[in-house]
Amino acid sequence: MDDPDDGSFDSLYGASYFRAIDSARTFYLYSFLRGYPAHHEKGVCMKISIVGTGHVGLVTGACFAEMGHQVLCIDKDTEKLELLWKGKIPFYEPGLELLVRKHIKTKRLSLSDSIREGVLASGVIFIAVGTPPRPNGEADLSYVESVSREIAKAMTRYRLVVEKSTVPVETGEWVRRTIRQTLRRKIPFEVASNPEFLREGQAVKDFLHPDRVVIGVESEKAEKILREIYRPLKVPLVVTDIKSAEIIKHASNSFLSMKISFINAIATLSEKVGADVVKIAEGVGLDRRIGKNFLNAGVGFGGSCFGKDLTAFIDIAAKAGVNFELLKEVQRINQRQREQLVKKVEQAVWNLRGKTVGVLGLAFKPDTDDLRDAPSLDVIRALQKEGMLVKATDPAAMENARKILPDVEFCKNAYETARRADCLILLTEWSQFKTLQWRRVKSLMSHPVIVDGRNLFDPDQMRKAGFRYYSVGRPAVLS
Ligand code: NAD
Repeated sequence: MDDPDDGSFDSLYGASYFRAIDSARTFYLYSFLRGYPAHHEKGVCMKISIVGTGHVGLVTGACFAEMGHQVLCIDKDTEKLELLWKGKIPFYEPGLELLVRKHIKTKRLSLSDSIREGVLASGVIFIAVGTPPRPNGEADLSYVESVSREIAKAMTRYRLVVEKSTVPVETGEWVRRTIRQTLRRKIPFEVASNPEFLREGQAVKDFLHPDRVVIGVESEKAEKILREIYRPLKVPLVVTDIKSAEIIKHASNSFLSMKISFINAIATLSEKVGADVVKIAEGVGLDRRIGKNFLNAGVGFGGSCFGKDLTAFIDIAAKAGVNFELLKEVQRINQRQREQLVKKVEQAVWNLRGKTVGVLGLAFKPDTDDLRDAPSLDVIRALQKEGMLVKATDPAAMENARKILPDVEFCKNAYETARRADCLILLTEWSQFKTLQWRRVKSLMSHPVIVDGRNLFDPDQMRKAGFRYYSVGRPAVLS
């Protein structure tokens, strides 16, 4: 481990770089969001740079600014930065635009395309660049490596470099080695891990109200810096070594994926024997040792994290000589859910060729426009392959969908989507779809058939409204 300066608290920040508001000075943190504690908070204003201004980097930056820190968000994508300077967010995330605008105005949030600028200006540099999957499933760490090199080239004095991106265990060691090899002279620095657990769609709330903050560190100094940064949140901090912190992130996402696949396996069994998975999940989930979250049967998980992290974790384990067969089954079940939904449409309308299906919801989950690994993509492509004509709508993801889903007729709302459809399928449980006027929907459709991939609707209500209704792990409504 590199030996930091003299270890004094002041040396961590550097008077010239940190506009410290010491603990004697009180500043106010107030809530822009429901539930964020509106109280006086004592704290130190840290100067922080974040490299990678995507979903995670931008939310982290905006929330750190909200917590009273001075933040510089860095990205190589200058078009994105232009947009952000105007207070516009390049993706859909409730509450984020407000926060970014607010702190560009308060000047607590700044933007740059220069990692050098960030390293000179800040004592702590978070790396929040993408770690996409390679074709073989392992994480592509080339962005993390190149950012580590850039940081090293600009370093003139002690800096703490924090992994925020989701990375395989031992990446911290690679980052340290890379920085050390790139440094032009011997400069003290440290590496830490601070994995992020926010969920798209409620990212700001998650960041400001996390269940816990995990920090992996190698010295008291690094721990002290990270404790100070997160102090305003007043949440449990799990302090551990770097490798354990790296694994906590993959283990958490894998466990959540496993819960989803578990209840989906129960849903398949329920369909075979005529049981109701929603009731089963209630009965199982009320056991506090299990918990009811993530026990919603449906078309399965998607998004930029679960699938990618699961594959990466299986690969990490394999490289360590551990065959994580359990997680491979989680993947198989998840893929099967998408295929089963297509079969369900076939079961509902018989022949698919030439028939029209209306798709409600495209994003991988509500409150986001993110289509990465969304089940809708697989389902729509499979239905098109079978000769179905596809109409679709989504409250936020249509712009993104137009770029990747050819031959889909995009509709402005659910009613347009229902018009002349032989079947409607629900793939994202947006709350807007819950309150549709069913009589109107039925009158627009060629045939009143609904396949609900998220168990959003009530079977009794569907029966009363006169639909044939198929959901996941519950008996179909056939009259
Ligand atoms: P993203 O693709 O939205 O953003 C990454 C950003 O990094 C992009 O704007 C890109 O331009 C920038 N970048 C890449 N190389 C750069 C460089 N050399 N210099 C400056 N900027 C550079 O990715 P994301 O969704 O924010 O994910 C980032 C990391 O966080 C990933 O490891 C991901 O697994 C993890 N994570 C994501 C989520 C989520 O919900 N999206 C949640 C938790 C953790």
